[in-house]
Amino acid sequence: MSELYYQSLSELTLALQSKALSVTEVVTVCLNRIKTLEPKLGALLTLNEEAALQEAQALDAAGPDKSKPLWGVPVTIKDIILTKGLKTTCASKMLANFVPPYDAFVTEKIRQSGAIILGKANLDEFAMGSTTENSSFHPAHNPWNLNCVPGGSSGGSAVAVASGECFASLGTDTGGSIRQPAALCGCVGLKPTYGRVSRYGVIAYGSSLDQVGPMARSVEDVARVLQVIAGHDGRDATSDTRPVPDYLAQLKSLPSLDGVRLGIPKEFFGEGLSPDVSNLCHQALKACEEDGAILVPVSLPHTHAAIATYYIIAMAEASSNLARYDGVRYGYRSQETSDLQELYVNSRTEGLGQEVKRRIMLGAFVLSSGYYDAYFRRAAQVRRIIRDEYVAALNECDALFCPVSPLTAWPIGSHADDPLAMYLMDAYTLSLNLAGLPGLSLPVGLSSEGLPVGMQLIGQAFVEEELLKIGYRLEQILPSIGHPQI
Ligand code: GLN
Repeated sequence: MSELYYQSLSELTLALQSKALSVTEVVTVCLNRIKTLEPKLGALLTLNEEAALQEAQALDAAGPDKSKPLWGVPVTIKDIILTKGLKTTCASKMLANFVPPYDAFVTEKIRQSGAIILGKANLDEFAMGSTTENSSFHPAHNPWNLNCVPGGSSGGSAVAVASGECFASLGTDTGGSIRQPAALCGCVGLKPTYGRVSRYGVIAYGSSLDQVGPMARSVEDVARVLQVIAGHDGRDATSDTRPVPDYLAQLKSLPSLDGVRLGIPKEFFGEGLSPDVSNLCHQALKACEEDGAILVPVSLPHTHAAIATYYIIAMAEASSNLARYDGVRYGYRSQETSDLQELYVNSRTEGLGQEVKRRIMLGAFVLSSGYYDAYFRRAAQVRRIIRDEYVAALNECDALFCPVSPLTAWPIGSHADDPLAMYLMDAYTLSLNLAGLPGLSLPVGLSSEGLPVGMQLIGQAFVEEELLKIGYRLEQILPSIGHPQI
């Protein structure tokens, strides 16, 4: 049996429900793991130690509750998701001392499921970035190689899960922020369909793109967490009313990939993909074929326009969403001011980081009169084309299967001065957000340098259960990558 902190959710839940393990024991193991590893990893921004231990003792005193699917399970939550009474900073100086007066919908659901929140996970400031280096507090380190980035923006969540600090985490994905760090850290991450999970209480970045989703160490664990957080919520106007399927019921129903049609978008396998990633992706595709899958070549011809389209839309929405941080209502307030205008300017200048300011300025530019038609409207039109291409490709197959990141985790600091190079890293993830579709990222192997490589399954809107089913089967046929030696 693996170490306690690397157990699967089903193993852990069985042990907790049968009282073979107490919640306090499990929580203590994770807290000790956190204390040993955090000086090296930097995955967390706030530790919830005292409350977590108190909750654990209360659960132990009350006894196991089978109606609570995550009863006693230690989890972490990306620090952009509101947690009542527990600091939520977005990794920004602007919100460094912000303690939310209410829970996000997903936090409510996580608490109701019996899970225990151990802490808040590090991220790129306001979820803007692909490495967690844009955190205003400290970067997070990849547990497979501490000199490398863990990906981002939900890098802290991926690190905490991959290193056994917790059993699952909630991330958010605006252009890849769940799938890419999951891939770079060797765990599983799901970006659900836009509207499947409520964003009530999730601090907004790009409102037409943002989605909350689970990160864990296996497809089954991800399915268990999705079951808890999916569902309608009247407080988010984009929350969908479709009933939530039973994700676990069918999870293991594919005895093989026999007859499963996997669409391979040719634009995702061309120039820019590193040889290591390309080799492992091709090996995974071969394993799928040997298991009976039919590989269907498909094309998403406007993939080349996705980065520009995404960054115009995301920055435009960010510039509008972040207008609320004015130094007046909440958050950081500059002391160096003589009038109201200066209060706004100085509070934002001092409270927001460089990347966030860059995006606010570019976003305001593409929305400004005279440029709106040339940039924002154009991007909205191209977005529609990209979405239609996905829908057409998905009509020819059961799911698309493609890489997540063109490279394995790269050294911390190597792209620090080149924001454009960083935006290009998102080439394979962000078009999915433009299309609003679900994507499941899972590990397919380790590179020659021992770094994880992930691939993503992309499906039709609101059929997460299909992706989970195929993903579960893939896990059976692909070699396990094990855990980082940390
Ligand atoms: N890297 C992308 C960006 O910086 C995606 C981030 C995200 O999904 N939150 O916008």
